[in-house]
Amino acid sequence: MDVIRSVDTMHALALGWRARGKKVGFVPTMGYLHRGHTTLIELMRQRCEILVVSIYVNPLQFAPTEDLSRYPRDPEGDARKCQAAGCDVLFMPDNLYPPDFRTTVDVSGLTSRWEGAARPTHFQGVATVVCRLFGLVQPTVAMFGEKDFQQFTVLKSMARDLAMGIEIVPGPLVRDHDGLALSSRNVYLSADERARALTLHRALYAIRDHASPDAEVRKAAGRSILQCDGLDYLEIVDPETLEAAPVIDRPLRAIATARYGRTRLLDNVAVLPA
Ligand code: AMP
Repeated sequence: MDVIRSVDTMHALALGWRARGKKVGFVPTMGYLHRGHTTLIELMRQRCEILVVSIYVNPLQFAPTEDLSRYPRDPEGDARKCQAAGCDVLFMPDNLYPPDFRTTVDVSGLTSRWEGAARPTHFQGVATVVCRLFGLVQPTVAMFGEKDFQQFTVLKSMARDLAMGIEIVPGPLVRDHDGLALSSRNVYLSADERARALTLHRALYAIRDHASPDAEVRKAAGRSILQCDGLDYLEIVDPETLEAAPVIDRPLRAIATARYGRTRLLDNVAVLPA
């Protein structure tokens, strides 16, 4: 596995692969890798000839009040995990943006609600960094986890709208042994917060398993289980438009974000008609 820190070296390598018609798979991350990330890397390994993983904690997607400076990092451990999962090139730029960088990418509509309502500049930062990474890595196919369901929908829409010619593939949401969705931010949780955080996926499972076609009835079943320090949203949405659906008459997605202490946790589950 090669570790590349220079943006120019990465781009030159990628243009060479493109000229030779290589199928390049790409898994972008912010590091502090867990089994959710390594599952995506292993799945992507089976779909491509050259596998690139990036690790970059992107300042553009953090608001000034958020956890950029204390975001957990473990570059040596991450490199070992990438190598074991079959990565060919680990792209770990110290600085991704040129000093006079002035472009932003805005996927309107899809980004204004749910996570976007709670974090108004977040998806613009995500779309912008992924667009630049796509330009540098020139992938044929890229994988994003369903753990961040809205992010996956936004990036799929961006790639299609801008005719990027990159296949955007969902990766399955990976959970801890007790059901908590794996997240780099789980390290922030105290023992008590982590215990209560288990009610987040249980509430979503209750919504999934309830027999009623009425979304309000199902959401009430979920809310009655949930224990948290603040619920940002708990909704049943259309997976393409992310609009709230009143009736469970087709495959939908229950999505939720709840706070435990200072930590916001996201989770979601597929919901099918009874
Ligand atoms: P992050 O490092 O949090 O930016 O995540 C990098 C990629 O890994 C994104 O596509 C995430 O959706 C994905 N990811 C994070 N946690 C999980 C998980 N528990 N299961 C599956 N994919 C995940």
